[in-house]
Amino acid sequence: MINKSAIELRELFTSGSVKALEIAQTFLDHIEQKDKDIGAFLHVLKERVLDKAKSLDLKRERGEPLGKLAGVPIAIKDNIHIHGERSTCGSRFLENYKAPFNSRVVELLEEEDALLIGKTNMDEFAMGSSTENSAYQLTRNPLDITCVPGGSSGGSAAAVSAFMAPLALGSDTGGSIRQPAAFCGNIGFKPSYGRVSRYGLVAFASSLDQIGPFGRTVADIALSMEVLARPCPYDSTCLSFKEESFTREQHHGIKGMTIAVPWHFLKDLEPASMANFQSSIQKLESLGARIIDVDLSLLQSAVSIYYIVATAEASTNLARFDGIRYGLRSKNAKTLDEIYDLSKEEGFGREVKRRILLGTYVLSSTHKEIFYKKAQKVRARLSAEFKAIFEKADLIAMPTAPTPAFKIGAVQDPLQMYLGDIYTIGANLAGLPAISLPSGLNKEGLSYGLQLMGAHFNDHLVLRGAFAFHG
Ligand code: GLN
Repeated sequence: MINKSAIELRELFTSGSVKALEIAQTFLDHIEQKDKDIGAFLHVLKERVLDKAKSLDLKRERGEPLGKLAGVPIAIKDNIHIHGERSTCGSRFLENYKAPFNSRVVELLEEEDALLIGKTNMDEFAMGSSTENSAYQLTRNPLDITCVPGGSSGGSAAAVSAFMAPLALGSDTGGSIRQPAAFCGNIGFKPSYGRVSRYGLVAFASSLDQIGPFGRTVADIALSMEVLARPCPYDSTCLSFKEESFTREQHHGIKGMTIAVPWHFLKDLEPASMANFQSSIQKLESLGARIIDVDLSLLQSAVSIYYIVATAEASTNLARFDGIRYGLRSKNAKTLDEIYDLSKEEGFGREVKRRILLGTYVLSSTHKEIFYKKAQKVRARLSAEFKAIFEKADLIAMPTAPTPAFKIGAVQDPLQMYLGDIYTIGANLAGLPAISLPSGLNKEGLSYGLQLMGAHFNDHLVLRGAFAFHG
């Protein structure tokens, strides 16, 4: 049962072949046995999932209509609120913090009868690319447990690859869904900015954050998007659309589509990654797409822009963790100033502190013109560059990451870690939908990822390209 897709599991349940309770129990047992080696979950929601499964079985027996994700186990990144459950965001600061309300995405998943099975490990406040910045535990890559699963949604990616859930949610601010999907050999989709509600997602960088799904088939991703991509009364950046049938759209193929490749920008890709990427492009061509060469040289600046904008926004968003309103309050503090200082000192890890310092620096009155404002200008130009490409192409293809997964502990220099985000952050800066698809293994059995990006709100086209490439 564990290697079935979400669609197959739903079918097994709704047809009466398997009870929801059996599904839930099977996955709980598998998690108990497997997660000792992987470390994908911070909290397994055993009671909650068994209760939900029992009520689903009753619902089915009574002949009531069943939701689109009925009986499907889903893992949730630990920065997405589930009412009454812990949301630690991988941080000591929120060690005992319980979510006081449901995020919109969780509300939607529950309405559609999904089984929320657990909360997954992540880099602290989603800052990182390897999940090594979690304050709690390492997560290991199921393809090779000496390697990182990627990050920051490494727990969700590992859970799906280790068959501990067919679907998982992550958040993507600069690649945190796509890069771990590529590292763990599954599919990760970052929807267009504004397509999925961020209500109840703990904010990292509000102009870049998006929630999205991980899965092992594009059809499962499309199904989950039909549930997630709905309007939200509580998030003014989440736009209303008429409901889209992503599952129907995906079958239309890519014959006649134009796919742009920024070859010049990719010239420094190491040879093995380049060979893999070229064979993916050949496959797209053989499926009927027309490949064109485009200039996206402004992407060279993407890492610099991102680490100014994201840290600036993070420093403001994280100001709310002051030792008074949420989570940890230092026991050693004697004055108000000490409450602020010591709670942050004790609650935040190194990377989070580094980002707050950087963000405060680029926003300071002496520096905001040369860093923050300039970065915003280049960001606007980058969006315009993307827009111009999408006038002549339907999709852009790029690798997801410069290399496959690296060894745990191998990247110590923060700057080197940041440079690994070079291919993913463009989509966040411009708000574009982008997906990572597994595109083959290297000699060591580690996965490469192919990334397809679309114009703003052309999520359906991205899924169509993805389905043609991967099925
Ligand atoms: N690796 C990037 C960072 O550390 C992206 C993280 C994310 O998408 N949440 O900021």
